[in-house]
Amino acid sequence: MQNYDKLFINGRWVLPVHPASFDSIDPSNEQVITQVAAASPSDVELAVEAARQAFDSGIWSGLSGTQRAHYLHAIATEIRNHLTQLASLEVQDNGKPYPEAEWDINDAADCFDFYAKLAVELDTQREQDIALPDVRFHCVARKEPVGVACAIIPWNYPLLMAAWKVAPALAAGCTLILKPAEATSLTAIELGRIAEKVQLPAGVLNILTGIGADIGPALTEHPHIDKVAFTGSVPVGKQIMQSAAHQVKNISLELGGKSSFIVFEDSELDAAVEWIMFGIFWNQGQVCSATSRVLIHEDIYETLLLRLKTAAEKIKIGAGFDTEVKLGPLVNQKQYHHVLAAIERGVKDGVRLVSGGNRPTEFSQGYYVQPTIFADVPEDHPLWNEEIFGPVVSIRSFKTESEAVQSANNSIFGLAGAVMSKDLDRCHRVARALRAGIIWINCSQPTFSQAPWGGYKQSGIGRELGIWGLENYLEVKQITTFQSAETWGWYLS
Ligand code: NAD
Repeated sequence: MQNYDKLFINGRWVLPVHPASFDSIDPSNEQVITQVAAASPSDVELAVEAARQAFDSGIWSGLSGTQRAHYLHAIATEIRNHLTQLASLEVQDNGKPYPEAEWDINDAADCFDFYAKLAVELDTQREQDIALPDVRFHCVARKEPVGVACAIIPWNYPLLMAAWKVAPALAAGCTLILKPAEATSLTAIELGRIAEKVQLPAGVLNILTGIGADIGPALTEHPHIDKVAFTGSVPVGKQIMQSAAHQVKNISLELGGKSSFIVFEDSELDAAVEWIMFGIFWNQGQVCSATSRVLIHEDIYETLLLRLKTAAEKIKIGAGFDTEVKLGPLVNQKQYHHVLAAIERGVKDGVRLVSGGNRPTEFSQGYYVQPTIFADVPEDHPLWNEEIFGPVVSIRSFKTESEAVQSANNSIFGLAGAVMSKDLDRCHRVARALRAGIIWINCSQPTFSQAPWGGYKQSGIGRELGIWGLENYLEVKQITTFQSAETWGWYLS
């Protein structure tokens, strides 16, 4: 095991100013994997000044997009070269099954390649002529990097969430500080080693591991940080909005969700079982876009519930390195207790438990929870309305399309939604009616670097991925030239 006791600041590995560390725990067995450096506000100062100087010096923003793309492609290549090591670290740190970890690492590499391509395109698309009604003026809109960015990420897809922010920020010409979640810091530190290996200029990417409550405010309130990009919970997102308000900082927020999957009566049952399960049990349900509530047409309701129960009870639960396993442990003890408490409340309130609902008996250690299905969940119950972020699905039946849409939209969140039917006109009609940022038709969860990602309502502000992800890290400057030979003639007429 490598050392994870240092921070990556200004191109160097340094101990925290006030030496401190915290445990990284393997959630499959509750054993300590290693110690991780715990940064303090003093380290935040050093990292911000390094990123600020790197930005202001122009060593990164002054390169062409094509030159920056060279580094991004090199990072993608190094991520692929270390696929097994990085995927194994995600399994140890997060608990996810190994094949899912491999998907994540490949997706992270693809994300760097994708933004390398957009960095090259920026060279020819940086300036856009703006037609003005007064021909004495010529105007261009010019895209420029926002400046120093701070990326704060959660633990559910550790390296992939880092890639979603680091890749577009670097492509745009920003310098940045990456703050991984304390539960899963290891692959972020490996990204620092990769940055070092590809000789990214010093200070362009700085990595601070540490406890969010200790260093988060020092980052989000820092006057030399221009942009805060956050993915995480709604309460922390609200705190970040407040602290960023002091300097009216540019922010983007990717927050939680309680997304609905509407299944119509003409759906093919195998496909419905497959995608409903993928929508909630993949990554142990610790997915912001998880379709954690399902609306099933009354004609197929009981049949599909039985099919789901049978399939859920066949899922192999266990440690992520077991090749048969499809459901690993939850990320940590806090999340384990949170998920079990949500289940217990449902049971105590008499909600119909179809399957699961307990810790699997075969494990004496590890944060395991059975895949859990509740049915006939009342619309005013927390199981229906609150994000659980675990392998727990809440199901209701519906009679009409409009009833299903209304029920799906009745949420403080608006991240995602899914609809299944053989009638594609109906699917598209429902897709347009759902108030959410991502809609899947006849599937749930597939995600592509090219397509926009983000939510309506309390699910966030802004979009990641695609061209929208790059624009998160760009300012638009108007440059207007008076090009007439005649004087303006207001004061001197
Ligand atoms: P969290 O909000 O507790 O933590 C997220 C990050 O914020 C961590 O790095 C943490 O250290 C940091 N943090 C904590 N307190 C902070 C503060 N006061 N100031 C600044 N940073 C602080 O969330 P989590 O438990 O790591 O992740 C789960 C949540 O993330 C879920 O609610 C989920 O829906 C959401 N999520 C959303 C998306 C999306 O794309 N919309 C993706 C993944 C996760």
